[in-house]
Amino acid sequence: MAGLIRFENVTKVYGKDVVAVRDLTLEIHKGELVVLIGPSGCGKTTTLKMINRLIEKTRGQIYVDGEEISQIDPVLLRRRIGYVIQQIGLFPHLTVAGNISIVPRLLGWPRERQKQRVDELLRLVNMDPELYRDRYPRDLSGGQQQRVGVLRALAAEPDIILMDEPFGALDAITREQLQDELT
Ligand code: ADP
Ligand code: MG
Repeated sequence: MAGLIRFENVTKVYGKDVVAVRDLTLEIHKGELVVLIGPSGCGKTTTLKMINRLIEKTRGQIYVDGEEISQIDPVLLRRRIGYVIQQIGLFPHLTVAGNISIVPRLLGWPRERQKQRVDELLRLVNMDPELYRDRYPRDLSGGQQQRVGVLRALAAEPDIILMDEPFGALDAITREQLQDELT
């Protein structure tokens, strides 16, 4: 079976001559959990961001579910792909519920289903929905903000979730708890 994500000879050059990714060929199948490991600056973030076209590749092809991504509207592509960034990046003017349900709302889910999904996700990471759904990000701890960032990526049950050092901002104990909750 063809991979869910397939890189074929993908290269990214920034500016004239900064080669961030060189001739990458890689296939990831449905259900696989793949981790990119390497020193700072080796091209991990660039590789992830090329998949949802936050960064445009210089050469090569990337297929998502059999479709070459240059042929897909970037906005629609991103709605199909959950993305957790290292800096968390919650919207400060939206509540926890508002942040988590961004993509479901864009996809036109009925309000009741959005609300159920938010509560279900909050319970998954041991955050009492009654207590947290109407809070703003500034009134959460760093670890709670990070949890909400991960939940936001999971909300619409995308086939693909990209996580860029999602637990990087956490201390070792909180990180371990959150990793356990997500596996
Ligand atoms: P990692 O996530 O593995 O730390 P990155 O993908 O962020 O690595 O970066 C890979 C290389 O590309 C690094 O040498 C970095 O300095 C360079 N780079 C990243 N973004 C840019 C950019 N916008 N312009 C120029 N060089 C960049
Ligand atoms: Mg990085």
